[in-house]
Amino acid sequence: MCGIVGYIGKNKANQILINGLLKLEYRGYDSAGIAVIEDKNIICKKDIGRVSNLYKLEGINDLTGTIGIAHTRWATHGKPSKINAHPHLDAFNTFAVVHNGIIENYNELKEDLISKGYKFYTQTDSEVIPNLISYYYKEEKDLLKAVNRACKDLKGSYAIEVISKEEPDKIVVARKDSPMVIGIADDEKFIASDIPAVLEYTKDFYLLADGQFVELTRDSIKFYDENLNEVENKIETIEWSETASSKCGYEDYMLKEIYEQPKAIRETIGSRLNENEKCQFDDIEIDKEYLKSITQIRIVACGTAMYAGLVAKNTFEKLLSINTEVEVASEFRYRDPLIDQRTLAIFVSQSGETADTIAALKLAKKKGCKTISISNVLGSSITREADYTIYTHAGPEIAVASTKAYTSQVVLLELLAIYFAEVLEKDSEEVKTLKRDILELPKKVEDTFKVADEIKELAKQIYEQKDVFFIGRGIDYTTTREAALKLKEISYIHADAYQAGELKHGPIALIENGITVIGIISDKKLLKKSVSNLQEVITRGANVVVVTDKNLSKYNFKKVIKVPETNRLISPILTVIPLQLLAYYVAKEKKLDVDKPRNLAKSVTVE
Ligand code: GLU
Repeated sequence: MCGIVGYIGKNKANQILINGLLKLEYRGYDSAGIAVIEDKNIICKKDIGRVSNLYKLEGINDLTGTIGIAHTRWATHGKPSKINAHPHLDAFNTFAVVHNGIIENYNELKEDLISKGYKFYTQTDSEVIPNLISYYYKEEKDLLKAVNRACKDLKGSYAIEVISKEEPDKIVVARKDSPMVIGIADDEKFIASDIPAVLEYTKDFYLLADGQFVELTRDSIKFYDENLNEVENKIETIEWSETASSKCGYEDYMLKEIYEQPKAIRETIGSRLNENEKCQFDDIEIDKEYLKSITQIRIVACGTAMYAGLVAKNTFEKLLSINTEVEVASEFRYRDPLIDQRTLAIFVSQSGETADTIAALKLAKKKGCKTISISNVLGSSITREADYTIYTHAGPEIAVASTKAYTSQVVLLELLAIYFAEVLEKDSEEVKTLKRDILELPKKVEDTFKVADEIKELAKQIYEQKDVFFIGRGIDYTTTREAALKLKEISYIHADAYQAGELKHGPIALIENGITVIGIISDKKLLKKSVSNLQEVITRGANVVVVTDKNLSKYNFKKVIKVPETNRLISPILTVIPLQLLAYYVAKEKKLDVDKPRNLAKSVTVE
């Protein structure tokens, strides 16, 4: 779930490891630690709380070892504490391990190891790993082989790094359902769960396949499959610049990422869409016959990515006349969805590591669906599972609350719908207009930022409220859901989204004097209906704010936030921006940690 960094080279490891952990702070964590090989011994330093606390630990700054492993923990088993922080050592202090993920069968393994004389000191699931390695090492006398044997016993997910004083010039790495990459530079190797951790040192990475093992020494790197057959791996050069993962003068990553949306959208469109040309996706081969054979499309995702799917549902149905349903992955994976080879299933995950979405994809494949994954992270787990993958090019998204990844996902799904329409030769006037409107989006997003000062003022008026309601109809209802989620996530204000037409069926009972109701209106056909619903809450004392791309002057709303007008199908990309800014400024008024909201992590790799 959380962060891993590792180093083997000619420089002192301590600073490089801590530096890497600092880059991963955005992921949300509760404790941190490092272990370095120092004169053939393992020195382990860890503590609860911030990575910067590590600097205060006695002796950490004096470590001179050039091999080390490091971790930020997001506790799943055993409360956040110094003792439960990683790295974990085996009972004989010979092996040190950091682990991301969950070992589902740790209880059985622990009992077995206890019966063999092993002692345990923590409440974590992870502690079984160094002890298992120690157990197998006795027989194998080889670190890689011992790690491999230990991994064969593990059920669940893991990315691990292992060092040992028995083989002090080596790091062994393994992964299953949890990401890991290896960066290389002259005479140095960097291990990381996420590329930004070590982007400052290299742009050349090996992406590890699921089930792969790696043995790193100062002058060699060898990759193995799960049966320890040596395998090839190729270097990928990552184009993200280091500044792309730093704040560049913005107070918070979230604000920076909100303002990066024109660029993210432009890059996601890339060469896929050009005026007067057919939409192109080099990475998928889907033909007319296949598309004609499908009876339904499913879009499956979690959280914000799921809301991106809800926006796109309208476009898929409009352009293709194919029934399109959007579902939450954690539900989908555990029911028995009615899908088969006539279902095209699309899975959306920014990180590409969302455990529920990956499991849902595996289920869809088992049931015979063709699968497409949409991810922002090259080589991420989901991309290895899907039949086809298409990438958003939003760049690294660091803030936990997603903004640029969301709007990029919407754009990519829209392009996909257009591409399918053209393959099916359903290239109507509607398709042509939508293409033109998507190409104009980056500029319109830039124009939308003009409302920022107004939003700042609005935030001052509502930051002390306990509840905020968002209402809308049709496509605007999907935006109310994303807007409510954003406000909840980072400002901790209770926010709810309702279909405006549903108010009278219950929620209107909650409307009382002074409560804030934010209405979104971009759908012309539903404009009058939405206006009436807003009047109804005004009559009951609500303070109404309207976000719209229409001219509503004749309705005398007290507060209207105007965004540029665009195609109804993509209007959520513009109407959501003032509401992303609102969530941000409300959290700032409340002096909250915008980028790292409590209890949340950036990529949810456990279910
Ligand atoms: N399950 C392990 C623990 O609770 C690892 C959690 C993580 O991925 O940070 O210690």
